[in-house]
Amino acid sequence: MGKILKTLVWLLILGGLIAGGFLTFYRFESQPPEVKISGLSPVLGRDFALQIKIKDTRSGLRWVKVFLQQERQVAILKEEAFPVSFLKGSGVKEKLYRLRVKPVEKGFAEGPVSLVVEACDGSWQHAFRGNLTRKTYQARLDLTPPAVTLLSARVYIARGGSALVLYRVGEPVAQTGVYLNDHFFRGYAVKGHTYAALVGLPVTEKGLTRFTVMAQDQAGNRLEIPVNFYYQRRKYPVYRLRLSEAFLARKMPEFLSRYPEAQKGSLLKTFLWVNEVLRRQNNQEIREITSRLSKEPFRLQGAMKALPHAAKKSDFGEYRKYYYRGRKVSEAWHLGLDLASVAGAEVPAAAPGKVVFAGYLGIYGNTVILDHGLGLYTLYAHLAGLEVPVGREVKAGEIIGHTDTTGLAGGDHLHFSVLVQGVFVQPLEWLDPQWVRYRILGPLSALR
Ligand SMILES: [Zn+2]
Repeated sequence: MGKILKTLVWLLILGGLIAGGFLTFYRFESQPPEVKISGLSPVLGRDFALQIKIKDTRSGLRWVKVFLQQERQVAILKEEAFPVSFLKGSGVKEKLYRLRVKPVEKGFAEGPVSLVVEACDGSWQHAFRGNLTRKTYQARLDLTPPAVTLLSARVYIARGGSALVLYRVGEPVAQTGVYLNDHFFRGYAVKGHTYAALVGLPVTEKGLTRFTVMAQDQAGNRLEIPVNFYYQRRKYPVYRLRLSEAFLARKMPEFLSRYPEAQKGSLLKTFLWVNEVLRRQNNQEIREITSRLSKEPFRLQGAMKALPHAAKKSDFGEYRKYYYRGRKVSEAWHLGLDLASVAGAEVPAAAPGKVVFAGYLGIYGNTVILDHGLGLYTLYAHLAGLEVPVGREVKAGEIIGHTDTTGLAGGDHLHFSVLVQGVFVQPLEWLDPQWVRYRILGPLSALR
């Protein structure tokens, strides 16, 4: 009897020792939590965001504290404690925080700042207080927007017209450009911190209420200053266009064969689909192509030259009302010049540039788009075929195609459009040597 009891006691002691040893080993672990900070840059602004990932797979997390510090100024950004069981540790093994910080609201000033993350686990280490990780991220608070100096004293712009804005920024910027109402036009660095922005006011705008230069630095500090401008309220004609049965019968099959989604049933229904749905799609694609960052150097030496020996058949900015059997059936803006010469006339590049599009483009038919740098583009439509490949560099006057009637063209002609960063503009300005010299080339060359 005594012997059994003795064995039992020994077994209990042994079991206790094993359990104790195991617990000690397991609960006295000395692996501190892992802390990962992401999303921060070395220069922080008035509003920034960050992500903190904290992990402790062994004892779990006991508490977490995140704060921003600048000399004696301290702001707690996050503080959280988790329940820790004496035997099992904490059940929270991982935590992800997404924080958004507005340091000015917390009383911080420009200068060095530290972001500190402290995390403690549920271990018995350090007199049962746990293992501590402390991670510091050093950065600089920049609360000052970049300085902007306008170099253009007064900018003339007409409805549907273009303009050049020159300005200088005081520091490297992350984003800069010009606003015309709600349209944003990128500024291109032309010399050091000097920027040039070509802008175009859409013919569809009723007026000009916002004409500003915007610059934003890496830290997100943003400045928008007004441009001194003179706005010319240019008028554009409204034009009545009669749709003949012959025209519809001649042109609609081209669209029906190319676009299975075209509206069928009658020639008029097809025309309405082409003139409204397809036109919108085509213009959207043109805007998209001509809104991209222009990688070409600006090599314009003088005015553009469109189709030589041609008669102007239609103006830019015409508002067309389409009549069918005496009834108005559709409307559209005409966003280029229609120039007619002999049938199959050679089409020269209006200025030096690079082919960025060559393809069939709905109402425009076979189309070529050239990039001239600074976000300036020209478009040539209703061409006979596609004679220049994308990527080809062309000189001013180099033949890029021949006139024809592809797309929504009644007779053989060239439809010539000029675009400034996605906006169709009045080509006549760019074809005018005086305008190009005084408004564009003169101010640009004065920088050099
Ligand atoms: Zn046209």
